[in-house]
Amino acid sequence: MEIKLEGLNKDYGGVAAVRDLDLHVREGEFVALLGPSGCGKTTTLLMLAGILRPTGGTIRFGDRIVNQVPPQARNIGMVFQSYALYPHMTAYGNITYPLRLRRVPAPEMRRRAEQVAERLEIGALLDRKPGELSGGQQQRVALARALIREPDLLLFDEPLSNLDARLRLTTRAEIKRLQRELRITSVYVTHDQVEALTMADRIAVLREGRLEAYDTPAALYAHPPTRFVASFIGHPPMNLLPASLMQQDGELRLHVADIDLALPEAIRGRLNGHGRTAKQVLVGIRPEDILPAGDGQLAGEVDLIEPLGREDLLSVRVGSTLLNVLAPSAPDLAPGKNVRLRIDPIRIHLFDPETDHALLAA
Ligand code: ATP
Repeated sequence: MEIKLEGLNKDYGGVAAVRDLDLHVREGEFVALLGPSGCGKTTTLLMLAGILRPTGGTIRFGDRIVNQVPPQARNIGMVFQSYALYPHMTAYGNITYPLRLRRVPAPEMRRRAEQVAERLEIGALLDRKPGELSGGQQQRVALARALIREPDLLLFDEPLSNLDARLRLTTRAEIKRLQRELRITSVYVTHDQVEALTMADRIAVLREGRLEAYDTPAALYAHPPTRFVASFIGHPPMNLLPASLMQQDGELRLHVADIDLALPEAIRGRLNGHGRTAKQVLVGIRPEDILPAGDGQLAGEVDLIEPLGREDLLSVRVGSTLLNVLAPSAPDLAPGKNVRLRIDPIRIHLFDPETDHALLAA
């Protein structure tokens, strides 16, 4: 089912939690709502569920405006962070609860429960109560309960937050695989950019109740349209440094951290309208786009090394700023040592320090 939010607003008393939100979720698409705490993710999800009424705007499920439709008539499945299972019921009782409400005959209920339990590999646990299940198993039961009603829309509210790191990884992959197989339109709330990047077809980045950006994970990572997106997506976050941009003898040059960098023609060609007139800018460089190299343009001093296994996260002091650098582990680097860093100018990002908007076209 296709979902369209148009000019959606939600006020709680004087608090504008969601503002003028337009969002189109295609049939079968997996969309993540991503943003920091308080940006309006859960409020948006609860309006999709019918639990909260919008203050303004419309919610369309297919061609139908559903603003006034109660949750039980929306055919949605919900999975919460807290699992929200009934503790006195067995897994079977919990999973089949939505069908019992609809008075589905017992044999069909049993057949559908066994089918969904098999898919989620919890067939052997159906007689246990939630207290006798691990967190991961409880979350599978909650997922089975959401799926058994064959919903038109699946809504997830931070479903992995209560799981330990390893289980989070496997459950993440499972949810994604299930969604791919079943092609149920899904909206997934998270503040974890890794979850959004790895699971979603498209990510809606929310900031203070507004839609900041909406695109595929790859596009948002490669060409963040704003400074906020640049610093929110990607870990460790993109380095952002004040710099000045100059046109000199037909060449575009960037003055950053006391160095002068000639920018390639390809960058000049990508400058948008604002970029062509900008003087003071913020230059963004992802940690993986800076490398320690003997002939690097920047001179710095290693402040800290965090080994990550395959590579090291270096914190390097360049002038008065600390840069995050992701580099293959190198035994000769140590805190206090001088290091030269090479920036590949083709991989830089530029932002307007006043509007925060990108100055380079994608
Ligand atoms: P989190 O990740 O912390 O859950 P969120 O992005 O889901 O955050 P919401 O829960 O949607 O954010 O809240 C959006 C804004 O609305 C916040 O400023 C919050 O304080 C406010 N808010 C949420 N629920 C209510 C309420 N019942 N009454 C008043 N204000 C509320």
